[in-house]
Amino acid sequence: MKIGTPKEIYEGEARVAMTPDSALQLQKLGYDCAIETGAGAAAGFSDAAYEAAGVEIVKTAAALWKEADIIAKVRQPSETELKRLSGDKTLISFFNPGGNAEGLELAKAKGASVIAMEMVPRISRAQKMDALSSMANIAGYRAVIEAGNNFGRFFTGQITAAGKVPPAKVLVVGAGVAGLAAIGTSTSLGAVTYAFDVRPEVAEQVESMGAEFVYLDFEEKQQDGAATGGYASVSSPEFHAAQLKKFRELAPEVDIVITTALIPNREAPELWTEDMVQAMKPGSVIVDLAAEKGGNCKLTVKDEKIVTDNGVTIIGYTDFPSRMATQASTLYATNIRHMMTDLTPEKDGQIVHNMEDDVIRGATVTHEGEITFPPPPPKVQ
Ligand code: NAD
Repeated sequence: MKIGTPKEIYEGEARVAMTPDSALQLQKLGYDCAIETGAGAAAGFSDAAYEAAGVEIVKTAAALWKEADIIAKVRQPSETELKRLSGDKTLISFFNPGGNAEGLELAKAKGASVIAMEMVPRISRAQKMDALSSMANIAGYRAVIEAGNNFGRFFTGQITAAGKVPPAKVLVVGAGVAGLAAIGTSTSLGAVTYAFDVRPEVAEQVESMGAEFVYLDFEEKQQDGAATGGYASVSSPEFHAAQLKKFRELAPEVDIVITTALIPNREAPELWTEDMVQAMKPGSVIVDLAAEKGGNCKLTVKDEKIVTDNGVTIIGYTDFPSRMATQASTLYATNIRHMMTDLTPEKDGQIVHNMEDDVIRGATVTHEGEITFPPPPPKVQ
């Protein structure tokens, strides 16, 4: 069978789902590989590099979709792309199945199988295919770099002949995958780093990375917002108020705020209010990684960078992984390659869609003319 990767068509998207290295691995599984010409260019992978790795270069997207049995891509497919599917094809990509009813219907009507990368269950065995985590890790790192790029001072404290420089103070709100990456980046750059999460179990992780966990004056425990399965739920009004009170105290102190707080299947909680922005020092920077879901900061504008009247820069970009396209493509292509390994038990270039397998079942959103989303919970955690 042939695996093909088209050039991403979403505006500004620089990632690619197959790299020359991942193509070599896919060929070891028995597959032929093809890419649309120029598909890897924006991520730093030339057609020549693919050719050297034994990948066929196909001139047009239409031809690529026609000749590939399995299409691996990054972004949720467009209607035009979905119309190119047929009953004998499998699509592997981000798909946003919970918010893409038309896409599911179209794929079903075409009889194609769709594997949605965001649906890979978060169980230990599937970590190597967890594209949400690999992209969140990049976003967290890049958020700090982006903040540094917009911040007029050092992160680390210094004593120089020209004077003493205090370290920057960074607050990371939300210590999931992206937040922990941001904390690690911030501490390694030498900033004094604080982090807050509604899940108290992350305090130890935060502290082991050299940051200080922010505790609230809320009953005796940190928290009421923690839910089962490692995900947050909506906080009680009392807890939310205690959280905002603490953030109001911190706002004049911190130089950089990275917000990453998300609650599954909801708009992002609003945690950094207008008065907090106003209380921040001129030159401070907020990077809102929750911008896609409405933002944690009241003033965030999705996909924009704004500067407030009091000189605070607020960054609401939603394309951080694409801004590090080489790294993001390498990790994403590896996630896809691991998915293909599980789909190819005989290493004979033939896909076996085993719906008894927790990971394959969990990620499959259409199969044999049926919509198979949402999946049942995985049998093994
Ligand atoms: P996420 O992107 O859904 O949310 C980011 C963080 O925001 C979470 O830590 C959440 O607790 C926090 N948050 C929500 N509301 C908040 C508020 N009001 N104030 C402050 N913080 C708030 O999270 P994620 O990065 O997807 O990780 C969620 C969980 O999944 C974690 O427990 C993580 O360890 C786990 N995980 C497991 C695996 C695996 O087992 N394979 C892989 C990845 C993540």
